[in-house]
Amino acid sequence: MRKGIGVSPGVAVGSAYCIHEIFLNPETRELEPSEVLAELGRYELARDQTAADLRALKAKVSSQVGEAEASIFGVHESILYDPAFESKLRQWIVDRHQTAQSALHHLLSDYTSLFARTKDDYLRERLSDVRDVVLRLSGHLSQVLDPNSSLPTGPIILVADELLPSQVATLGERQIAGIVTQAGGSTSHAAILARSRGIPAVSGVRGILKQVTNGDLIVVDGREGHVVILPDAETETAYRKLQREFFDLKGALAENRDLPAVSADGLPVELLANINSVADAKAAKAMGASGVGLFRTEYLFLTHPNVPDEEEQLAAYREVIAESPNHRVTIRTLDLGGDKTIPYLGHNREANPFMGWRSIRLSFEHPEFFGTQIRAVLRAAAGSAGPVRLMFPMITTLEEMRRVRSMVRRAQTRLHQEGLRAGKVAIGLMLEVPAAAISIDNLLEEVDFVSIGSNDLVQYLMAADRDNPRVNHLCQPLAPPVLRVLSRVIATCNEMQKPVTLCGEMAGSPRPVVLLFGMGLRSFSMSPAFIPTIKDLLRQLTVAKAEEVLRRAMEFKTTQQVDRYMAQQIAEIAPKLKLLDTA
Ligand code: PEP
Ligand code: MG
Repeated sequence: MRKGIGVSPGVAVGSAYCIHEIFLNPETRELEPSEVLAELGRYELARDQTAADLRALKAKVSSQVGEAEASIFGVHESILYDPAFESKLRQWIVDRHQTAQSALHHLLSDYTSLFARTKDDYLRERLSDVRDVVLRLSGHLSQVLDPNSSLPTGPIILVADELLPSQVATLGERQIAGIVTQAGGSTSHAAILARSRGIPAVSGVRGILKQVTNGDLIVVDGREGHVVILPDAETETAYRKLQREFFDLKGALAENRDLPAVSADGLPVELLANINSVADAKAAKAMGASGVGLFRTEYLFLTHPNVPDEEEQLAAYREVIAESPNHRVTIRTLDLGGDKTIPYLGHNREANPFMGWRSIRLSFEHPEFFGTQIRAVLRAAAGSAGPVRLMFPMITTLEEMRRVRSMVRRAQTRLHQEGLRAGKVAIGLMLEVPAAAISIDNLLEEVDFVSIGSNDLVQYLMAADRDNPRVNHLCQPLAPPVLRVLSRVIATCNEMQKPVTLCGEMAGSPRPVVLLFGMGLRSFSMSPAFIPTIKDLLRQLTVAKAEEVLRRAMEFKTTQQVDRYMAQQIAEIAPKLKLLDTA
């Protein structure tokens, strides 16, 4: 048995199919000057063939799987024609007389070392998109056939160093039962696609490509995050049974899309989605979300070559609002710094980036884009068919809240003076800093709503960087001190009648959701893929039961005790969900 990280829940049994690296031996031959022009021509032809592939794939995946899954191929096409990408390749061919293949190899290693230096997971994982494009180009140059074409029939478990987005998305018609990768994290596109398609997946299983060969029977357990290679007959039977249950469960959950989100005793609950893009907004609708509880706008900025101007932002927000369930969207202003840096802001390395110049602190010092963002949101809200809310991340003090409020008021006045329409927006704070949690009653004076950003709140409460593998075991959402803080914040918001949501990862995970419901939380915002599971859970839970479980859980002194107790409770409240329950 090999241990990794479960990135998509469920259980699968099947034969291994290994995808090995194509780029093992780069060419070293230098071109004669007379060959350079012809080589450029070869590259351009391969590029155009690649673009044609990508467009065909986009159309195919869009009709067979969905537009959200297909959008990645549009991104790949823009990488292919990206001026920096193209000019680097041309330089290698023209100035250094490298073959196009070899230029691709150099380009990929340049990008790999460049991306390795960034601390931003999202950006680092975009390297797999670049690799995907490079592999496709390389395939056309060497006329290698599609690496997927020789897949065996029957349920298979893909084993790869890192699975490329196009590989996951084109697997539509094949029976991919599970995915195991050596690299990759839970925010990689492959993981997101695997989750959205309900394929169990485990990543971070180092060296597995050396341990399995094509056709080996393997088990992927996406709940526990482990892989069993060549299981004995008994183990195989046990896992096959779990796999059948997992299939039945997925079918049953998909059907609850149109059922109301209410607890077993009839209390309505709000299930919202966390999104990064228009494609995610569509996925949120498909999963039965009633709105968007967190639109992370930084991806709009991260994928743009410079600061997107007001009109560009306005168009992007309008599109997201148009595609979101019930046109209800909570837009979060830029949350950069910490783990997310963008080159054009000239971000400096800091000793403590998470406690440093990040998020709202950085935005205050960049009124040129912060003010523009507020204006764009207000204008987008003006024509919206549903309520638009504006939310500010990492608020620490009351003064900061007053400052953003007055910025919003000023922007409204200016827009009116300019003859432009500004919509009404509720103004909220993201509760992520312990100081704000402690004095939440004071802060509530200046806010219309609160959204608890538990990913950050937990790391700050535990003083443990959520991205540092040496200490992130301390980032436990079920830790007793975390539960105490959450319960106080939720109670205070409820007493003062301010709407409160939680939009961190714990909102999509059964164990914490039971406790949060017991604390009085009635609004949860999560990855669209988790909505059916959480709806199913809440439909089987009463307020009285959740309160009783919470009371007991709060008596424990260690996270481990809470965790064990909650695993038992999930098994009792929603026994079928056991397959999707993870620590
Ligand atoms: C959070 O901190 O919980 C949150 C939702 O924001 P992000 O994960 O983008 O920091
Ligand atoms: Mg956060």
